[in-house]
Amino acid sequence: MELDITPGIQKKGIEVAFELVEIWGSDHWNGDEVAYVKPVRVNGTYMITDDTVVVNAEAATVIQAPCARCLQPADISVRGEIEEAFLRDREDREWSIADEEYHYKGHIIKLNDVVRVSLLQELPTRILCKEECKGLCPVCGTDLNQSTCSCQKEIGSRNPFSALASMLNEDEEV
Ligand SMILES: [Zn+2]
Ligand SMILES: [Zn+2]
Repeated sequence: MELDITPGIQKKGIEVAFELVEIWGSDHWNGDEVAYVKPVRVNGTYMITDDTVVVNAEAATVIQAPCARCLQPADISVRGEIEEAFLRDREDREWSIADEEYHYKGHIIKLNDVVRVSLLQELPTRILCKEECKGLCPVCGTDLNQSTCSCQKEIGSRNPFSALASMLNEDEEV
């Protein structure tokens, strides 16, 4: 995702509006495979000063990620805030790899990294397809949103202490 700042070169110190829309594919986040299922939209302004371009924007898309309970794909609308300064790369300056600042060359600012992180960090730590998702049966793996299985009942009838056990479990959760 590249921001061309050519229109702003003659407007130093003035905020210039921009909009970028790009289709992104799959990605990885927190050990999950995720996908951008809507185009990534970035709306905002940039302002050029002597050696720095300050970008203020909002990014939005829909990210698909596996539900933590049933593993079915869940679509999550995310909005990220971008407020970042990009320093101009110059021939006479050497940057170390550990440098944490963002840089740009020529008239193009590569926004991929800042947009990506601004969106992905908005994902909930525990992704659910729906709040009341019943998840998978821990015994047979049946998706309990779609059908039922008899595992819970069988465990219950075989174990005379199950009623007591579930009472203890309820206590634990309090
Ligand atoms: Zn689910
Ligand atoms: Zn089951």
